[in-house]
Amino acid sequence: MTQAISEDAFEAEALAFLEANVPPRVETTLTWGEGSDDVSVLPERTAEEELAELRSAKAWAAKRFDAGFGWITGPTRYGGRELPRSYQRLYDSLESRFETPSQMLFGIGLGMVAPTIAAHATEEVKQRYLRALYRGDIVACQLFSEPGAGSDLAGLQTRAIRDGDEWIVTGQKVWTSGAHLSDIGEIICRSDPTLPKHKGLTGFVVDMHAPGVEVRPLRQMTGGASFNEVFFTEVRIPDSHRLGDVNGGWSVALTTLMNERAAIGGGMASGGGNMSTQRIIELIRHQGRANDPLVRQQLADIIVNGRVASYTNLRAMTKIAAGQLPGPEMSIAKLSLTRNMLRMGELLSSVLGAKLVADSGEWGTYAWSQFILGTPGMRVAGGTDEVLHNIIGERVLGLPKDPAPAG
Ligand SMILES: Cc1cc2nc3c(=O)[nH]c(=O)nc-3n(C[C@H](O)[C@H](O)[C@H](O)COP(=O)(O)OP(=O)(O)OC[C@H]3O[C@@H](n4cnc5c(N)ncnc54)[C@H](O)[C@@H]3O)c2cc1C
Repeated sequence: MTQAISEDAFEAEALAFLEANVPPRVETTLTWGEGSDDVSVLPERTAEEELAELRSAKAWAAKRFDAGFGWITGPTRYGGRELPRSYQRLYDSLESRFETPSQMLFGIGLGMVAPTIAAHATEEVKQRYLRALYRGDIVACQLFSEPGAGSDLAGLQTRAIRDGDEWIVTGQKVWTSGAHLSDIGEIICRSDPTLPKHKGLTGFVVDMHAPGVEVRPLRQMTGGASFNEVFFTEVRIPDSHRLGDVNGGWSVALTTLMNERAAIGGGMASGGGNMSTQRIIELIRHQGRANDPLVRQQLADIIVNGRVASYTNLRAMTKIAAGQLPGPEMSIAKLSLTRNMLRMGELLSSVLGAKLVADSGEWGTYAWSQFILGTPGMRVAGGTDEVLHNIIGERVLGLPKDPAPAG
């Protein structure tokens, strides 16, 4: 049931809450040589910085949830307010005017795992975890990829064997972002190896603190360690924590992946990358290359392609907001974004030369090496460039399907 509150009254209530609890955002313009010159793509934090970020993210999420702004569109029985999406958009636009702690560490839990729990979990699991996720009490991760199953996710091998009211899970996941901070994970396992590969999978919510779960951080080439290998040795999961039907895990995974693309798309549509473009323009000026015709041409390409990517994304986001399924727009937009990151890398290499690989101490120069080292990760996460090419080839251009690998 939708609570009777007008948008005006809701806006006044939200503003009063924000004004009482967080400082207004101070608009910063880029001044060359001042402030941080960090342009990294993946978060590069020490373990202490990450824990401090998690603490302040949790404190803000709890305060916001308790004030009624944590899950504005969610069902009241799980702590939501059952208000229309327009109220959420209104709140988001108000909150963006204030300096609030980053909620990035909840990105996978709220953007992908919670919608899957809402769509496929038992009432017991919904009661137990949805409120806790939206209140920031717990963190969730996505346990899909394995050493032998990434793009070909349906080839995964982690086994789930039924034992009465429980399942026993054994296997290995990899590239699990945030597993080291997580309390629960959404895992897809092979429950029946005799069925065709898409048909023998089952999804579960697994307690990341259960006996037999071992998380080993992986250090990426940018220096940070935001993802992990996760080993499962005879981990027991109650059948009540199953997502969807036995052997129905593929459609559970698709729910999550759809939300993953929407979450990545949402970030891009909200203007991600504009700051980098502005920084590149300033860099070109400060390196004395503003009149170089080749540099100007490369820059124009980046700006035009960036605009096209964000408009394509907005089209997909508009479809989602209207309750429709986005088509291949999301794939096109993600591919455009990563291709633009490659163009930026080429431009930066030609403008910076040796300053990109040797730290001269000059502000805003060597820092770009972090951007370039982070680009391959973006080309892989959420669907690799090659896989997106296949999707566009098949669904937009009507080309024949990618032949299955031999053997
Ligand atoms: C930053 C980041 C965060 C991640 N977070 C998570 C997470 O939280 N949870 C999780 O489960 N996973 C996560 N992943 C893993 C990610 O989903 C996989 O890396 C991705 O699906 C690709 O799988 P793979 O690494 O096994 O590569 P592969 O699938 O083995 O691909 C290797 C190469 O082969 C190409 N290729 C594969 N299939 C085809 C084909 N049919 N046609 C043409 N080329 C092909 C690929 O494009 C790629 O170049 C993350 C990855 C990154 C980079």
